[in-house]
Amino acid sequence: MTVVVNNLPGGAAELAQTPPAGASGGFDRRRFRPSKTVAVLAHCSRLADALKLARPRPSHRPLAAGLIVVFSLSLAGLIKTLPPSAPAASEPAAAVAGRQDVAPQLIDLEAQVDALMQTQAGLGVRVVEPPAAAARLRAIRLIAAAGDAAAAQSELAALRRDLAGWQAATTAAASQQAAARHHRVLAPASGSYGPVTAPILMYHYPPADFENQLKTLTAKGYSAIDLDQLTLALKYGSPLPPKPVIITFDDGFSNQMLAFDLLVKYQMKATFYIVTGGAASRYCIGANRQPGRPCGDAYLNWDEIRRLDASGLVTIGAHTVDHLALVSQTPAGRQHQIAGSKAEIEARLGHPIRHFAYPGGSFNAEVAAAVQAAGFATATTTRPGMAHPAGKLYELQRVRSAYTLP
Ligand SMILES: [Zn+2]
Repeated sequence: MTVVVNNLPGGAAELAQTPPAGASGGFDRRRFRPSKTVAVLAHCSRLADALKLARPRPSHRPLAAGLIVVFSLSLAGLIKTLPPSAPAASEPAAAVAGRQDVAPQLIDLEAQVDALMQTQAGLGVRVVEPPAAAARLRAIRLIAAAGDAAAAQSELAALRRDLAGWQAATTAAASQQAAARHHRVLAPASGSYGPVTAPILMYHYPPADFENQLKTLTAKGYSAIDLDQLTLALKYGSPLPPKPVIITFDDGFSNQMLAFDLLVKYQMKATFYIVTGGAASRYCIGANRQPGRPCGDAYLNWDEIRRLDASGLVTIGAHTVDHLALVSQTPAGRQHQIAGSKAEIEARLGHPIRHFAYPGGSFNAEVAAAVQAAGFATATTTRPGMAHPAGKLYELQRVRSAYTLP
């Protein structure tokens, strides 16, 4: 459930709010003017759902209330019997096991590759170009996404061998530098590249004119890149195409498949931030939303998310378990929302999930640190802007329309 209501027809775009720095973002009913609220409700049943969820109305009919209680209790029992991390029953056990074995190995290799990149950046050597190493990791993620665990294992082994070679060559370069230390010119430390200008478009429900926005981007000379490419540019100064743009969709609404069809048509990359869904949101939202429950919107299911993931165009990111404002969570609650959503998506897709979006734009320094500690490479906010400063990988700014871009 998002309650950021941009991208709606009917001129409701201005209702979306951007929280001030460090403030809790998200939905605030008091900021809606009644006339606009009516206009939005007319266009937006999900907002109506959001209002219901935010403040359930007490029932004045005891019988109905009793039935609801009985229904809720039986549903709660049902939910308890359906652990959200359990893989779909239709999948062969071997496929599930193979997938779950690849993800932790890839996470470990990503960390090793990143450490090597940082060492190289510190030494000012390039035994392996960061984009080349990243492409190897990405290829394995795609193989894992396609469900071929055996091929993924073989590629993991090959990358491990190559990594050992790169590490040895980097160590040799470091020794040479140590021998000629007084001649050494210090290279920029990793993370010091920036600002990097790359507008990150933020969508929720696909706008009616989404195809036209894609055409506009192309006409203006933009190339859709992914967040891994932006990460490499900000951390290691890796080159980007002349006018890079990043397309993101928050919340994982089921009608985002319409946007996916257009992304395929125009062969443009995008990131979809998935809410997994859990107990705190009563399984009304996210990929674990219980089918048939009289609550919430329609969300992408895990089969659809796997299809996006295996397309080669889509990066799947995480957007917490329950779409709560993270600044108001306890450290344990925050950990559950951030690391819990990452772990479940990784178990479902069989590869690392590297990118995160703060629900409602709600973040502060502690939240950003928790996202980084959980192993994410970036996090996107709802702050407006398109020039990302060096070292600000967890405060990426976004824009709301292709038409406003230069
Ligand atoms: Zn959201």
